This record gives sequence, structure tokens and C-alpha cells, in this order.
Amino acid sequence: MKQFEQMVLPYAEDALEPVISRETIAFHHGKHLAAYVNNLNAMLPGSEWEQLPLKEIVCKATGGVLNNAGQVLNHELYFGQFTAPRDNNHPTGKLAEAIVRDFGSFEVFKEEFQKKGATLFGSGWVWLSADADGKLVITQETNAANPVQRGLHPLLTFDVWEHAYYLDYQNRRPDHLAALWQIINWEVVARRIP
Ligand code: MN
Repeated sequence: MKQFEQMVLPYAEDALEPVISRETIAFHHGKHLAAYVNNLNAMLPGSEWEQLPLKEIVCKATGGVLNNAGQVLNHELYFGQFTAPRDNNHPTGKLAEAIVRDFGSFEVFKEEFQKKGATLFGSGWVWLSADADGKLVITQETNAANPVQRGLHPLLTFDVWEHAYYLDYQNRRPDHLAALWQIINWEVVARRIP
């Protein structure tokens, strides 16, 4: 029996165009995420991780189990946070207030988040998370790491592995990151606040 099912996209493969192409989504969700889910499911039977929830595996496992479990969790949060492009897209309500409180303004937050994504060397992820006191923090995580490993609660993420943008933007990672703000579903992000 498969312990984890691949998440179903909450939108059509072409819904995020032109920010992310249908082709990139088809490879990224249909091939890369599928491989992480299949690899993880193949490693779990008979292991100490059998039947454990995904976040617990990410917090406790090492090696190949951690790499694949981390990438499954990371991509579920990543693909789950998007929607079709919106003009003047920004958070509202408590999330918007918390961003202003902890970063000064939404513009300052976006600049800092993009900079952390653009300067992350190699493959990884940039995250917005809430700490135990509800304060918002931005972290860079390399490879398959996730902020839950630091005791943080992840809210928003940009995938900076080349497979996330190379078909559409080639080496222009900063341009890709700047475009992603148009497709963030801020209602989904706000619902992740604990
Ligand atoms: Mn990815």
C-alpha cells in the first residue's frame, strides 16, 4: 500500500501562465514531484517511518528518506499556494498586518524574500514562516530542507531549484522570482497561520 499519494493540483496545468508555463508545471508536478512521492513510498515499507505523518518524518529522518520526504512536503506547500495571475496581488487582513509589523511594509518584505531566493547558492527554497510566538521570519533552506526542522511553521515558499524555472526563464532566476508574486493565493497562505 502507498503511504503517501501525490497531491492533486488545485488548478489546471496552464492556469499559472504566463508566470509558469503549462510545460513547466507538467514536468515539475507530473515528473519531479511524482518521482519524490514514488521514491519515498518505496523506502517506507518495513522501516521505522512506516505509518508516520509526513512532517514527523521530515523532522526525524536522515539520508534518502529525509530528502524525498522533504521534497514531498515542500512541493505540497509550493503547488498549493498558487492561483491564476492577479493584478495588484497582495495579502489582506491579519497576514498583511503581520507582514507590516515584522518587515516594515509589503514592498520591503517582497524585496527581502526575493533577495534571499536569488542569493541562495545552488538548489533550495526560500520560506516565509511563523515562529512559536507568531513572528514572521524569512529563511533559506538548501536542497530538501523545510523550516519545520527548525521548529518554524511554514507559510509561503519559492522553489529555487532550476527545474522550477529553467524551461521558462533559463538562468534568469531573479526574473522568475519577481513574477511569482502575481500568482500567490494569499487566502491559502493566510489559512496556514497557526
Ligand atoms: Mn521543485
